[in-house]
Amino acid sequence: MSDLTGKVTVVTGAGSGIGSAVAEALARAGASVVATDRNGPSAEAVRDRILAAGGEAIAVTMDVTDRSSVVAGLAAAVDRYGQLDVLFNNAGILRENPFLEVTEDDWRQLMTVNGLGTLICTQEAAKIMIAQGRGGKIVNTTSITARQANANFAHYAASKAVVSSLIQSGARALAPHGITVMGFAPGIVQTEMWEGVQTDPSARRQKMDDYAKKILVGRVSTPEDLTPIAVFLAGPGSDYMTGQVVMVDGGMVLV
Ligand code: NAD
Repeated sequence: MSDLTGKVTVVTGAGSGIGSAVAEALARAGASVVATDRNGPSAEAVRDRILAAGGEAIAVTMDVTDRSSVVAGLAAAVDRYGQLDVLFNNAGILRENPFLEVTEDDWRQLMTVNGLGTLICTQEAAKIMIAQGRGGKIVNTTSITARQANANFAHYAASKAVVSSLIQSGARALAPHGITVMGFAPGIVQTEMWEGVQTDPSARRQKMDDYAKKILVGRVSTPEDLTPIAVFLAGPGSDYMTGQVVMVDGGMVLV
């Protein structure tokens, strides 16, 4: 159900955190991985780890907010492997600001990377999949914040609600072409993303401890907690699913 042998998967934001863990897990499942990131060296490091482990991968510098960069990145994938089967829309950014202090600039940045970036990559990958004529899968990393209010992440939550909405509209629009669109929603994952919002390591640890108390399984997650569902959604086991978001949040959404 999770054998990805012969499948070509493109992962955005593959240079760090969830994206790098997903890229490596897809490769272990047999996929050829196109690790893309706006930070090219970080994508190359992931490619090198996959190759060192006996997997197959290339690295591409790609900014999801720039359509010409996305078109070139996906073309590089098809040039190298001859096809595109799965797109993981994972690139994203986080800001933390009290509700009354969210600026137009914060709003635009989050909507541009998380929302518009997802739209552009989905459109361009879908065009390739439609031309290939044998379907495909698009999997998005959304967030618990799309469903659970948080006073300090209004702009981030709104951008992830856009991603969740695109999963539903994309599923409807692309179904006639045999393309499914799905997502998984992490809760709190220990990645570099949190270093951006809390630079002081001890304050960051305290923040994670506070979050852990609100999570039913009693801890925040690692990127590796998410890889089984990512591989499942990319593989044949998810063939009868589309338009759905799977919560992988340790039960946090219930609290
Ligand atoms: P991360 O910061 O570790 O990794 C994000 C990656 O995206 C980085 O490599 C970065 O260079 C890349 N990126 C950012 N903007 C880009 C752009 N315009 N084009 C291409 N690449 C770009 O973060 P992460 O925690 O691994 O987050 C991955 C995804 O998971 C994001 O969509 C995030 O919103 C989502 N998420 C994270 C958490 C969490 O707690 N960490 C929780 C829920 C959802």
